Amino acid sequence: MDDTQPDPVPHGTPSLPMLRQLPKVDLHLHIAGTLRPATLAALAQRHGLALPRPVDSLYTYRDFDDFIDVLRLSAGALRTADDFHRMAYEALEDAAAAGTWHAEMSFNPQYYLPHGVPYRVQLEGLAAGVRAAGRDFGCSALLIAAIDRGLPLASADQAMDDIVSQRHELVVGIGVDGPERAGPPARLADLFQRAGRAGLRRTAHVCEDNQTLQDAPPSNVRDCLQLLGCDRLDHGYNLLASDEGVRQARDCGVYFCVCGITSVRRNRQQRLNSIRAMHDAGLALSLNTDDPAMFHTDQTHTLATVLEGCGWGWKEACDFSLAGVDACWLDADAKRSLRGRFAQQIAALTAPSEATRAPSTDPRSAGVCS
Ligand SMILES: [Zn+2]
Repeated sequence: MDDTQPDPVPHGTPSLPMLRQLPKVDLHLHIAGTLRPATLAALAQRHGLALPRPVDSLYTYRDFDDFIDVLRLSAGALRTADDFHRMAYEALEDAAAAGTWHAEMSFNPQYYLPHGVPYRVQLEGLAAGVRAAGRDFGCSALLIAAIDRGLPLASADQAMDDIVSQRHELVVGIGVDGPERAGPPARLADLFQRAGRAGLRRTAHVCEDNQTLQDAPPSNVRDCLQLLGCDRLDHGYNLLASDEGVRQARDCGVYFCVCGITSVRRNRQQRLNSIRAMHDAGLALSLNTDDPAMFHTDQTHTLATVLEGCGWGWKEACDFSLAGVDACWLDADAKRSLRGRFAQQIAALTAPSEATRAPSTDPRSAGVCS
């Protein structure tokens, strides 16, 4: 035993190299938000689109609307299957570099259809990129076809026609994003029931904290579960305003795919406070990046930010690691296999400290993952 060796399991917030080695899943990841600035600039130039500012400040936003403008630029900059291939491949290369072993990436077919890019072409490129990245980086991925609730329902119907008629083994589910002020979940019930009949899993952005309780009320969580048939949810922070809503969500065990980093810097502490409160209320949480490149983050940085902001340590890091596996949409066999590999890696990262550390009453240094 050599007491001069550094303890690989940190007391307090674990080190970044340690968190990078911790296996992670990312379930709330918009593929448009993974575009590297240089890639977006190159694609925009190829397709004759002007950048609003130099590439090195492309992802520095004046406000939320400015961020949405950059997202719109990205929607117009992807025109060919090769473009989609590159986006998916680089997304998973960056995810793998941060220690993500499995990702479920959402893409919005509605963003690209108006630019003359058929769903078939989007899918062809994304699937090729996912498979190539799986071979090169060992990071598996599934796809989620997302509906933007801020666009007309006719556009959502058109996208759903494609999603249902061109079923693809990598597209295992649908999601909905965009502002909840566009209308209550009930207006999407028919669309989501249709997806359910086609065998697709369902998630929805709900109760986001950048919207008022009037626009994104706690009752939206119940409606997403009961009317849309969602079996997991994205965000969910405004649910904290309803004790009864929290109790119901806790009792049914639905996972909330929360994100530690937001586009608006002044909201970041509030976001961390909400994640801490949701955790303390007993809600099931997985931790995710949302728009990693556009928010200047990755899974390691997001995890470190949340651990530090919430006063958590290695145990909670391991909890998030395994929660991502529990909440993912891989089939039962693949999930069991992934869970086994995660447990093995976590044990390998945790075990060396056991022989060198005296027993501690600090739960953050327990080195036991549940
Ligand atoms: Zn999101």
